[in-house]
Amino acid sequence: MGKKRTETGACELCLREEVEITIHHLTPKEMGGTFLPTANLCIPCHKQIMLYIQMLSSEQG
Ligand SMILES: [Zn+2]
Repeated sequence: MGKKRTETGACELCLREEVEITIHHLTPKEMGGTFLPTANLCIPCHKQIMLYIQMLSSEQG
């Protein structure tokens, strides 16, 4: 009890199996993506995608 729960599965981006995964919303929740498809990504891939999205949105001002 009280232990942080993590999910393990296959990353849809790098295709590694049995890695700690996080759910990535393909459409940001702020844009109504809460009920839209998600991808299971490992933590490194998720970070990469978040950085990529931040970079794109900062380029658009
Ligand atoms: Zn990955």
